[in-house]
Amino acid sequence: MGQVTSEQVVKGNGAGPNGQSSATVKSYAPATGELLGEAPNMGPDEVRAIVARAKRAQEAWGALSIEERCERVLRFRDAIVDRADEIIDLLSRECGKPRHEALLHEVMVVADIATFFTKVAPQALAPREVPLHLMKHRRSFLHYGPRGVIGVISPWNYPFQLPLRDVLLAVIAGNAAVLKPSEVTPLIALKAKEVWDGAGLPEDVFQVVTGYGPTGAALIDAGIQLCVFTGGVSTGKRVAAACGERLIPCVMELGGKAPLIACADADIERTAQAIVFGGFSNAGQVCISVERVYAHKQVHDRILDRAVEITRGLRQGDPSKDFVDVGAIIFPHQIDVAEKHIKDALEKGATLKVGGKRRKGEGQFFEPTILAGCSHDMTVMTQEIFGPVVPFMQVDSEDEAIRLANESHLGLNAYVFTADRDRGHRLAERVQAGSVLVNDVLSNGGTAETPFGGIKQSGFGRVLGEDSLREMCDVRHISTDRVRMTGKDPLWYPYSETSYKWFKKGLRALFSSGNILRRIGDMF
Ligand code: NDP
Repeated sequence: MGQVTSEQVVKGNGAGPNGQSSATVKSYAPATGELLGEAPNMGPDEVRAIVARAKRAQEAWGALSIEERCERVLRFRDAIVDRADEIIDLLSRECGKPRHEALLHEVMVVADIATFFTKVAPQALAPREVPLHLMKHRRSFLHYGPRGVIGVISPWNYPFQLPLRDVLLAVIAGNAAVLKPSEVTPLIALKAKEVWDGAGLPEDVFQVVTGYGPTGAALIDAGIQLCVFTGGVSTGKRVAAACGERLIPCVMELGGKAPLIACADADIERTAQAIVFGGFSNAGQVCISVERVYAHKQVHDRILDRAVEITRGLRQGDPSKDFVDVGAIIFPHQIDVAEKHIKDALEKGATLKVGGKRRKGEGQFFEPTILAGCSHDMTVMTQEIFGPVVPFMQVDSEDEAIRLANESHLGLNAYVFTADRDRGHRLAERVQAGSVLVNDVLSNGGTAETPFGGIKQSGFGRVLGEDSLREMCDVRHISTDRVRMTGKDPLWYPYSETSYKWFKKGLRALFSSGNILRRIGDMF
């Protein structure tokens, strides 16, 4: 027990605690420092063997009808709901998040994703005919078949929702899935696997490989057919390069720096509440957190004051013991990052309005923090913080706010607050982000129907939405003749001067402007 030190858990060093390669991955509770358990640190041979097993299991799984697969996935969903208490308890302890968030943002979202996609999958993945505008004598059909084994590499901040989202989509579409969870949250991934097995589903269709970064790299190299990666930009670049090297397609869900634009007519109370919830939910460790506020000068002070007041009332502590609002920070490095950005901002003239300190004593806690008077020469406004820090900047106009919001290398989520929802919609269209919410925050992270993902360095490809189900598939185009064809096609051999002239006339008739009848007449 006691505070976890950087020596105990250093995330992202690619090998293990203290940089050495260790036989196990140790999981500590961020709120108490308690050692919760260990998982094997799997090497390339183990990972390859697991992917090979997944491949074999996929053949039988993929051969089931989609209705049969959906029925089995719903059994998994029911088992999750039945065992919600133990999942929430582990999420709260391993990730340090409040139980409300473990329930609403993890377990409930997974249950909803399973429900929604099992409902829409039979239709979404059914063969569809594509009408041909030119080759009327033929019919074209698209068939969506499983790719094989999908590798899912996921981060620690939503260690149940994010990986299971991708795993569910993969298996509903007929694939097997192999998940590499973050090194700091292996136990919740193993719990998901335990629930899957307990529900009587084929064990090798969903498997987990635990370890550090190299285990993730080994997964990419083990014969998967698609990699769905969620994580930071720098790891994402390495993963995309590794996939490129092997010509494996990938979906990249990377970091964010979500701006919140408060227009002159924004509702003060709703905007302030949204900033606090959007900035401090999951202790700010959310890729779509409110990471910077641009408030119009007419409302800036009132929103800032109210946000500070609400923040002062938040209760922070060990979420496994109490119903707190804000939990712990996953590992010490994240606190160092927050402190570094705050220090830079204060040195350059920002004002600390509330928070700003790590809590002494047991566990890793950082106070929800609001900074005012920020500008774009401070890193707090330009780099992803991934902690409970919200910087405010006052702007003179909405145009200025949009310009600043777009002045970023990231583009995942963005938020616009205004009393005029039509204006909000128009402003939203000008913001460079994968999703823009008007008068709301965070809610699209788990909306099953709508695609989620980023632009710029926030990544590419989308998860959620029906298209993401098809993304898990190889698309096969099958073309048949509409009427019985005999002999040779007019487009085939032999080529002659006469046929060339007719095709040339055809080019003009088909593809030039003007009256269609006259163009056809011109052929003769
Ligand atoms: P990382 O990028 O550090 O890690 C993500 C995953 O990649 C982990 O499982 C990690 O394993 C693994 N990994 C590390 N190195 C390699 C490698 N060389 N090859 C393959 N896999 C590797 O991210 P964090 O876990 O720290 O998560 C925080 C980041 O995730 C933030 O930037 C956040 O914005 C982003 N994120 C994006 C979301 C989105 O939907 N766009 C959603 C949630 C978070 P290990 O942990 O063992 O090192």
